[in-house]
Amino acid sequence: MKDNGHIPGIGTRLAQLGRTSEAHYGFVNTPVYRGSTVLFKSLDDLENNRARYTYGTAGSPTIESLESAWTALTGAAGTALSPSGLGAVALALLSALKHGDHLLMPDNVYQPTRELCGGMLARFGVETTYYDPLLGAGLERLFRPNTSTIFLESPGSQTFEVQDVPAITALARERGLTTIIDNTWATPLFFRAHEHGCDLAVEAGTKYLGGHSDLLLGLVSATARLLPALRRTYRNLAMLPGAEDCYLALRGMRTLHIRVKEAERRGLELAEWLRGQPEVRTVLHPAFPSCPGHEFWRRDFTGSTGVFSFILQPGFTRAGLAAMLDQLTLFGMGYSWGGFESLLIPFDCRAYRTATAWNPDGFVLRIQVGLEDVQDLKADLRAGFERLVRAGA
Ligand SMILES: *Cc1c(COP(=O)(O)O)cnc(C)c1O
Repeated sequence: MKDNGHIPGIGTRLAQLGRTSEAHYGFVNTPVYRGSTVLFKSLDDLENNRARYTYGTAGSPTIESLESAWTALTGAAGTALSPSGLGAVALALLSALKHGDHLLMPDNVYQPTRELCGGMLARFGVETTYYDPLLGAGLERLFRPNTSTIFLESPGSQTFEVQDVPAITALARERGLTTIIDNTWATPLFFRAHEHGCDLAVEAGTKYLGGHSDLLLGLVSATARLLPALRRTYRNLAMLPGAEDCYLALRGMRTLHIRVKEAERRGLELAEWLRGQPEVRTVLHPAFPSCPGHEFWRRDFTGSTGVFSFILQPGFTRAGLAAMLDQLTLFGMGYSWGGFESLLIPFDCRAYRTATAWNPDGFVLRIQVGLEDVQDLKADLRAGFERLVRAGA
């Protein structure tokens, strides 16, 4: 972008980031470069690896457009991509950890991340301890001489506890530990992970960046200290996303600010409405005081997105829940979120939490508020609640 001293706003930046039109005959968007082989001009160039691009796994204009856009958006020193959000979590962890290390993980972490720790990382000699996500500086008492890395996810998957990120990253910096945050829920628009002290920040681009439930992608942004390790791990694994998915992510980025602000507005409206329904006991939305860690959300975040949970009153039956969910007309039942369509799924994390007790005493549902008209979503839910009550009576 041309520098005339004026600081551009987020919409302007999202419209400009990662574009290299002059290299593509003036076409606005970086094209989809598919390729393995890149041809060198001479023996001399080949022997000296002298070329802008050298091989498919070593980078392409499409991949570099997305990487450079994300680096600028996050304020990081650099970015590496992955074919999925979970892949990006793995890439970050493998960049930070080595055999013999001790890792701290929040108890409300995305469940497949937990499986990665208990499976592959354990096999490679990394020991994981789960911690109460509401511990801030109190985390220090779990430190061991070989603790090297603290993972954060804020708000946490499903239950939405918000963490005291600055307290944890300050502690980590003091001890020379590495911090990784899964920032998927907030996106860099609503939480500035690196400015809050995190070394590596993971985003499942599958969610809001893609925004249309039609792609899988992960991104890891790094501060200067961690960037060499991140790039080395990325190079070693050579697990890169396809060019089409990078293209779609760049396309999604142009409207990300509009979509997350709209997700926020709709999310808050529906959360407020749900709070007033007699079948609902508690709404776990980071912007509501009823959400654990809400004070950290208020202090550190600049917005909320359209995914949150709510706990039903106790006493409803499984048959009632099935009657409610099976006949919803707008809300779909399925994993992931961040697309244009609304979703509603029940969850039960009692079985795998180890550091904290989670006894909600009623069914718990996670909602993704899509772009359908809110009055229609309310009508769909209201009819669902009536089926729930009828079947339970
Ligand atoms: C969805 C999600 C992921 C994984 O993303 P995929 O692209 O589905 O692998 C990781 N972390 C969080 C917090 C997520 O919500």
